[in-house]
Amino acid sequence: MPLLSNIHTHTTYGDGRDAPEAMVQAALRLGFHTLGFSEHGHADYDDCSMTVAAEPLYRAEISRLRARYAGQIAVLLGYEHDWLSPPSADAYDYVIESVHYIRAGDGLVCVDDTRAILEDAVRTRYAGDVYALCRDYFRAVCASCESPAAILGHMELIMKFNERRDLFDDADPRYLRCALEAADCAAASGKLIEVNTGAIARGYRTAPYPGRAILTRLAGLRAPVIITSDCHNSDYLNCHFQETAALLRSCGFRTALQYRGGAPEEYLLEEMLP
Ligand SMILES: [Zn+2]
Ligand SMILES: [Zn+2]
Repeated sequence: MPLLSNIHTHTTYGDGRDAPEAMVQAALRLGFHTLGFSEHGHADYDDCSMTVAAEPLYRAEISRLRARYAGQIAVLLGYEHDWLSPPSADAYDYVIESVHYIRAGDGLVCVDDTRAILEDAVRTRYAGDVYALCRDYFRAVCASCESPAAILGHMELIMKFNERRDLFDDADPRYLRCALEAADCAAASGKLIEVNTGAIARGYRTAPYPGRAILTRLAGLRAPVIITSDCHNSDYLNCHFQETAALLRSCGFRTALQYRGGAPEEYLLEEMLP
């Protein structure tokens, strides 16, 4: 199995179930060579993010684990930055830039929390036009590509609560145009683009995001991709990795990247297939 690495990992410092050391032990049981932590950097509008007081404790704990497990597994200190929050002044091994909230009218809408929040936002802020909300979401993704972060997180998160396509139709031209524009922004940014299986582990979806249309566009543009599990529970550190490799192959990718130690390294997706 060539993919033995995950760099999108949450813990009890944010909204994860397990302490960082339990995550390291789970990674060791899977034979991982690298585990990167990516707790939510503080955002005062987001209860899932670390508090200002928790951030130095998180950094100290991950640094302790890095030293404690040196020689067994590379432990990386990263964080997930919401595009609307101030960037951290501290140094991290990498940053994942993600859109969890969009500006709508005079407030913020979380696209990651519940389906009811999305439905309510469509009704109260978009006069019932769900495609206008999707357009604002993808504009936010394009804007987030301007950040200096190395990695672009879950760039089709707006599909999280739309597995049955009953919120909107992701094949509708009003959706696809914006989605593919965002794919073009992502590819042009040079960022490593995440293919995220986190919603599968949590029972929202059966496939990763971004989905087939965006992935096919990214493959045509030869954009680099990285499979991650956006893990919130140590039972799911490599959730759906093999199936995601098969999906990427079918969309035209031959290779993907994974972090080995502190640097991304390419591997052949074919070697992931049974
Ligand atoms: Zn996220
Ligand atoms: Zn995350």
